[in-house]
Amino acid sequence: MLSKNEIVEKRINILFKLGEEELRKGNSERTKRYIKLARKIGMKYQYTLPRELKRKFCKKCSLLLIPGISCAVRLNKNTKTRDIKCFNCNYIRRYPYVRKD
Ligand SMILES: [Zn+2]
Repeated sequence: MLSKNEIVEKRINILFKLGEEELRKGNSERTKRYIKLARKIGMKYQYTLPRELKRKFCKKCSLLLIPGISCAVRLNKNTKTRDIKCFNCNYIRRYPYVRKD
């Protein structure tokens, strides 16, 4: 039998997948609804989203972030960060990147 966490995880993964499908079809409003729902479920069950999922959506508007479709990714040499800009709300999220010299 699946544990509660596994069930929650499964549901959230499905919602992210559906969200991505809608985004690729151009239905960003629906995508946001799916992601918002996934976040809500996570909160309700106190389930912490894994890092790779957390990085997949805009914290501000809940849009799924796919480079070239819903966000722009660029490396910022001044701040040594990878900047991800959401096309929907223009929110910029910065992640430090490790230089490979
Ligand atoms: Zn956004």
